[in-house]
Amino acid sequence: MLFSDTRISIRFGGKMEAYLDYNATTPLDPLVAEEMRPFLSGEFGNASSFHKKGQAARNAVELARERIADFLEIEPGDLIFTSGGTEADNLALKGTLERQASTTNRRHLVVSTIEHQAVLHPAQTLEKNGFKVSYVPVTGDGLVDLDALKSVVTDETALVSIMHANNETGVIQPIEEIARIAHAKGALFHTDAVQSFGKIPINIEKTGIDLMTISAHKICGPKGAGALYIRKGLKIKAALHGGHQEKNIRPGTENVAAIAGFGRAAELAAKNQKEESAGVLRLRDKLFSGLKESISGIQLNGDLGKRVTNTLNISFEGLDGETLLMNLDLKNIYVSTGSACTAGSVEPSHVLIAMGLSDKLARAAIRFSLGRFTTEREIDYALAEIPSIVERLRKASTEKNADRHSLPSSF
Ligand code: PLP
Repeated sequence: MLFSDTRISIRFGGKMEAYLDYNATTPLDPLVAEEMRPFLSGEFGNASSFHKKGQAARNAVELARERIADFLEIEPGDLIFTSGGTEADNLALKGTLERQASTTNRRHLVVSTIEHQAVLHPAQTLEKNGFKVSYVPVTGDGLVDLDALKSVVTDETALVSIMHANNETGVIQPIEEIARIAHAKGALFHTDAVQSFGKIPINIEKTGIDLMTISAHKICGPKGAGALYIRKGLKIKAALHGGHQEKNIRPGTENVAAIAGFGRAAELAAKNQKEESAGVLRLRDKLFSGLKESISGIQLNGDLGKRVTNTLNISFEGLDGETLLMNLDLKNIYVSTGSACTAGSVEPSHVLIAMGLSDKLARAAIRFSLGRFTTEREIDYALAEIPSIVERLRKASTEKNADRHSLPSSF
């Protein structure tokens, strides 16, 4: 257990459950909620107003900017607040490609096949709008194929956008090397660091990052706040047009409470990163060893060593991940599959398919992700329940298959 019981009990409310879906979202840290509270009541001013109420809101926004900048060792002015990771990714891709196309002859974007939809979908939109987009493959371990990357980056590449840690497997990409490959051809480098920010140290300067996306709700902050780091002097095109907020790049009245919470969450992440990561690793290893010991036919997806400490992606042979997820949910064990609902049918995770998994194994995958408030009790509970659920579902599936095979031929 990493933190005190009082803070944990806020979430448990007495019933036994195990929240193992931190990569989807994290519980709001009570200390973050405390920071946000004044801006949800008395301090309701608009950060652009000149009076005292407005200035209180402005101060909160700028304090948050400083706290995040301190953590990342950058200048506060290099951060643009957005409504979250999705908006920051869109701004990075569209803003860079559109700006570069109007000032240079670079109209080419490079992304990997395992990016989050917040990168893949704007990339596809840019492609529809006449930009060239290359999708770089990954190895079976979930790491971007650097030779393939080198072969597609050219003098016409405007931007290489490759995520830092993958949201489904937790695998960490070699972004320093990737930035070098982009820069060697004069291209810019953006990284979606939504799943690594607060979990592992990021040295923006040393890594050679030109643009970087972060989001508050993955670090025990509120939903609906994120930011885009833009290297000083780098110009991108605004996606929205309106007031003068966020240097005209992201106009619109600031979500003061969420931004204030984001700042506090970043400060707490900076303080807790090392201890939290070690504690989470111990619990994750306990979960993994426990599952391996008690369940046969399981496969870990993605390199075990090169990943953030909180994530496990496991395929349970012979099972359907969605069915397993629903059965775990009945026991208040909360996990994810990487599947996406597209046009009414459930598609297996594009990340696992890109890593070369068969359709069947990709559909049999479950993501377990831990975080600040995960307790030993939650892991013990998950380990006590999961093996029997898996056994029951496998048995039911075998019986169903046997029944199907023994049906008279007229059926
Ligand atoms: N990028 C990655 C890697 C993510 O995991 C997520 C959210 O799951 C996003 C972007 C989107 O961030 P947000 O939910 O803040 O829009």
